[in-house]
Amino acid sequence: MRLQMMTWAEVEASVARDSGILMPIGSTEQHGPTGLIGTDALTAEVIAWRAGELADAVVGPTIPVGMAHHHMAFAGSMTLKPSTLIAVITEYVLSLAHHGYRRFVFVNGHGGNIPTVNAAFYEVYAALYGHGPVEGPELRCRCISWFELPGVQRLTKELFGSKEGAHATASEISVTRAAFPDTVKSAPLEPAQAPISRFFDARDYRRRHPDGRMGSDPSVASAPAGRQVIDTAAAELAAAYRQFGTMG
Ligand SMILES: [Zn+2]
Repeated sequence: MRLQMMTWAEVEASVARDSGILMPIGSTEQHGPTGLIGTDALTAEVIAWRAGELADAVVGPTIPVGMAHHHMAFAGSMTLKPSTLIAVITEYVLSLAHHGYRRFVFVNGHGGNIPTVNAAFYEVYAALYGHGPVEGPELRCRCISWFELPGVQRLTKELFGSKEGAHATASEISVTRAAFPDTVKSAPLEPAQAPISRFFDARDYRRRHPDGRMGSDPSVASAPAGRQVIDTAAAELAAAYRQFGTMG
């Protein structure tokens, strides 16, 4: 169930049964010549919605813009400073905690968000508990990046081998092709497999990765592969959600 499609009375009844919630978080940033700007937000929400169906869990509204400073040399990319993203996540969680939610599983679609999301969890704990443990119901937060799930990693290795890459990956572009078949883009990919190296900032990123991709060859992306990735990621997430919900 998507929170946005529920009434307040339905939310009130459902939170009394299950105080967990899935929270998709993505990014709005370039994904190479053939990937959608919204890839990280779209993949996180498609996978979270499916996991929500499997686990009978509520899915909160997607946070669509993340920490993507290093992609800002490409048109269409947007970023929040880490401090802004921490404030956004903290206030999303505290708002929902006010209504009784206690277990937050963030479903993340963008590697660049991970340190900031985890920092935000400690802002939440600090806001609720000050500087030490207090009495009262415990609130717990967890961040799961769908592309890091072990089953997903096995599958993408099997499907794409070394063509998967690290940004504008074959798997994430496959997921958007499966979910949004009308948006398939074609453009020359030169070289077929993009370079991959460390970088410092947005300008340096573009210098080292001129078309935006990092290490990937998304010409192998396909809708059927995307459906497999969605199913695998959603099943693993649903299992992780159930387990998280029963932790002491
Ligand atoms: Zn991405």
